[in-house]
Amino acid sequence: MSLFTLPALAFGQPDKQPFDGQLAMEHIAQQVSFGPRTADYAGKQKTLTYIQQLLEPEADQVLVQSFKSYGLVGNNLWASFYGTDSKQTNHRRIMLAAHWDTRPIAEHDSVPAKRAEPVIGANDGASGVAVLLEIARLLSEKRAPATIDLVFFDLEDMGNIDNLPFSIGATEFVRKNPFYRPNAGVVVDMVCDRELEIPLERFSRDGAKDLQDQIWRIARSQGATAFKDRKGTYIEDDHLPFLRAGLDVVNLIHWPFPKSWHTSGDTIDQCSADSLQQVGRVIAEFIYLKREPL
Ligand SMILES: [Zn+2]
Repeated sequence: MSLFTLPALAFGQPDKQPFDGQLAMEHIAQQVSFGPRTADYAGKQKTLTYIQQLLEPEADQVLVQSFKSYGLVGNNLWASFYGTDSKQTNHRRIMLAAHWDTRPIAEHDSVPAKRAEPVIGANDGASGVAVLLEIARLLSEKRAPATIDLVFFDLEDMGNIDNLPFSIGATEFVRKNPFYRPNAGVVVDMVCDRELEIPLERFSRDGAKDLQDQIWRIARSQGATAFKDRKGTYIEDDHLPFLRAGLDVVNLIHWPFPKSWHTSGDTIDQCSADSLQQVGRVIAEFIYLKREPL
């Protein structure tokens, strides 16, 4: 399987062949077709294999880091696309990250009998992965000036189940890779809803204001109306372990959460190619920005 087996595309410069929301939708459809991406479901391994097999032929390095935490086993996947200005003294490294696991329970479902079932996670899980995989297609065609690390975290969505925290995988990633100090990072989570609204998440605001402002400036210039100029709330997500380690990482997340959140209704019919495309194009412009040498 290769990124090039996706629907026929003339690969050009990313600015000529920009981030395609429809292709990102295909990646959501694939993940959803594998079933829940949580322990004891076949969809978990299938999805890890899917991501790995797409990226291995294209990236300069792909690592799967397994870990054990809270008695759980998880796998973070880390794919690097080396930057074109890697010889420059101020060479930059940017992390783009998303969680690839899905929640084992749909505790907010309106039907009590469904609350013990796993969510399918078209939005909460698959959408962030889909954005990263479509970015990988751009990078496979044209590397960015900066080195881009696409990081897929496992075990984000075990929070408040048996007293477990959120972001177990991201926490393990920071613990295992203390040498990894990207200049900037963006976490994408729940970005496909048809009525997507991404306000200024508060932990990101407090910890990485300049980076958040830069991303919102790009959004404004592109007319990406899903990005809202209002403050959101404080959301525990995979950016937190990085902010706590002193790194500038911003969270792009739908808030207030859509009605489908942690329900059996988190399905692909709630997703929109346009929402994905707005987010993807803002991120693409951010990573392809040329920075002058020091
Ligand atoms: Zn969730």
